[in-house]
Amino acid sequence: MGYQVAIDGPAGAGKSTIAKLVAKEKGFIYVDTGAMYRALAVYFLDQGIRAEDTDKIIRAVGQAEVKIRYEEGLQQVYLNGVNVTGRLREEAVGNMASKSSAIPEVRAKLLDLQRGLAQEEDVVMDGRDIGTCVLPEADVKVFLTASVETRARRRYDELQEKGVSCDLEEIKADIRERDERDMTRETAPLRQADDAVLIDSSDMTIPEVTAAIAELCK
Ligand code: C5P
Repeated sequence: MGYQVAIDGPAGAGKSTIAKLVAKEKGFIYVDTGAMYRALAVYFLDQGIRAEDTDKIIRAVGQAEVKIRYEEGLQQVYLNGVNVTGRLREEAVGNMASKSSAIPEVRAKLLDLQRGLAQEEDVVMDGRDIGTCVLPEADVKVFLTASVETRARRRYDELQEKGVSCDLEEIKADIRERDERDMTRETAPLRQADDAVLIDSSDMTIPEVTAAIAELCK
């Protein structure tokens, strides 16, 4: 079993940015579990299924094969043999992933894949339920959060930089809605594990958060 670093927290807390940097610093593999939920979401959307069609999603999930490969150190996600990494950040995909990830059959589908990766390698894995459910024995657990205002502002700046027009209040409402869904679902809800270290990044820089987590990995 490898060394396991679990980073959980709400949408937009900076988990993936930080997890990637910590992984680089420690020479570990970065495992983005949100990308796996997003890959299944791509499948559901491509099948023309709506997020409300729980029965159809449960039937479809058996036909979707998600595989992770590392190419030049970067996680690539394959859906039924096709690399879908480039599609994962689409708005519709994020929305479908947020809703379909509440379905127990969808979560069960990805659990073995996530645990398997952590068996083989030293990992920094980020998500919503890593410290509480996927890797309950992780060596280091972090609950990374930030205020809704900070998270919305970061997302707004990111979209502005890409030239995408957006509205700060809408982004805030969307973040609140996704948090609510993640925290109130019955299976593996988002919550801080009892033994996780809480880091609020609202007033911290990226290097500060990275250093704080790397320090915990000693
Ligand atoms: O982190 P990211 O936004 O890429 O995740 C996409 C969606 O997948 C989230 O909105 C969340 O609901 C879900 N997710 C989850 N459990 C994880 C990782 C992501 O439920 N471990």
